[in-house]
Amino acid sequence: MKRNRTLLHGWGRYPRLHARLSAPANVEELRSLLRGDPAASRIVRGSGLSYGDSSLAADVIGGGGLRQTWELDEETGLLRVSAGFNLREILGEIVAKGWFLPVLPGTSLASLGGAVAADVHGKNHHRDGSFCEHVGELRLMLASGETVTCSPDERPELFRASCGGMGLTGIVLEAELQLARIAGASMLSASLPAANLGQCFDLLEEHEGAQYSVAWLDCLARSAAMGRGTVFLAEHATDGRPHHRRRNGMGVPFTMPGILLNRHSLAGFNSIYFHWQRLRAGNKRQGHDAFFFPLDGIRNWNLLYGREGFLQYQFVLPDAAAREGIRSVLERVSDAGKGSFLSVLKKMGPANGNLLSFPMSGYTLALDFKREASLFPLLDELDALVLDHGGRIYLAKDARMSETVFKKGYPEWERFLEIKRQVDPEFRFRSAQSDRIGLTGAAR
Ligand SMILES: Cc1cc2nc3c(=O)[nH]c(=O)nc-3n(C[C@H](O)[C@H](O)[C@H](O)COP(=O)(O)OP(=O)(O)OC[C@H]3O[C@@H](n4cnc5c(N)ncnc54)[C@H](O)[C@@H]3O)c2cc1C
Repeated sequence: MKRNRTLLHGWGRYPRLHARLSAPANVEELRSLLRGDPAASRIVRGSGLSYGDSSLAADVIGGGGLRQTWELDEETGLLRVSAGFNLREILGEIVAKGWFLPVLPGTSLASLGGAVAADVHGKNHHRDGSFCEHVGELRLMLASGETVTCSPDERPELFRASCGGMGLTGIVLEAELQLARIAGASMLSASLPAANLGQCFDLLEEHEGAQYSVAWLDCLARSAAMGRGTVFLAEHATDGRPHHRRRNGMGVPFTMPGILLNRHSLAGFNSIYFHWQRLRAGNKRQGHDAFFFPLDGIRNWNLLYGREGFLQYQFVLPDAAAREGIRSVLERVSDAGKGSFLSVLKKMGPANGNLLSFPMSGYTLALDFKREASLFPLLDELDALVLDHGGRIYLAKDARMSETVFKKGYPEWERFLEIKRQVDPEFRFRSAQSDRIGLTGAAR
């Protein structure tokens, strides 16, 4: 089995940690690794595309070797697949057969294990829920090396803890997924300009019947134009033979000097992007990868934020508080002179019963910020606003939330710990994040 010491980080390139990385080539090697050093504590890592420290620890297990299972029932769309495949690989096999993944995050490079562990959501959460709502069964390897199956009917509590459980209950070996039928691989999309934040919300509400919807906001526009943006809607085309076309995009060749990212350059980018989108508003047909994964077309775009890396701040607020709360957050960000290239607003449907899943009925906003010392006090203030409005912060994006903020936002954390103690009494599975937020550190 390959083992090496390496410097690891998530997509935000902060924090960075020297780790011992082991890469089992299959399930048997994984079991030997866990049984060979039963006292070690470690976390599994998929593609490393969570932004912060959820797949970082002193000892990390690469999940990429878990690729032994691929069983697709082409009649029913039931797919049993190993956790090491990424979503792009899965789409590459299923689209031409008329099937689609029922939920997709904004990157196709996330692994299946990472999608389950974060219970990821897509642009259709308001209609179709999150990833694990389409998972019928999981096969997990526990810290002891024992393999167990769980589902909504078999060990349901372990299932609810593992879907969205950030790798802390066990290592997902494979999942059974119900795919969605499609008649064509392309998307029919529409983009609608919105003059301010209120209009963005109104358009998302008005089009809540659209299967996919998302808004990009100009987070630096002020006064009456605050929160102006573009709402993107889409449905699967129902004509044409399904086909899958992969784009080979451009890349960012080197780390940009962070100094180039300041309030003025970001305001300029946001304004140009807003007006460009306004000119292009209307209906079009596009490939599904262009609609779902626009950023995958720019390799290493995380280097744009400079050497120090960046943080994504994603939170969700319940329906009743969302408009007022998101306005307050944007005002606070603007007053602090901080800006984000990407400010993405999505409508969310109801929460599911998974103990640490992020979604709740309401709205989620994601903002990217260059890492700099003055950012951290601002994010602490935003945490307070989020909690005051009844919301929570997404674990898959988080690199710095406190234990108190986590526990207030995720009221089922104690139930989660009870399940964890049953399957991992020695707390062998732990990450830098789980220690920081008191799930595996002080909480023990
Ligand atoms: C450009 C971009 C856009 C994104 N858009 C969205 C979005 O729209 N919606 C959304 O929900 N998320 C989004 N994300 C976040 C991303 O989908 C999640 O962080 C996902 O978990 C990444 O998968 P990964 O394989 O890279 O996991 P990693 O980052 O490697 O790990 C994430 C967590 O999953 C656990 N894990 C990984 N593999 C396994 C396994 N086999 N068994 C058990 N646990 C495991 C890890 O321990 C860790 O806790 C986006 C990320 C990027 C970079």
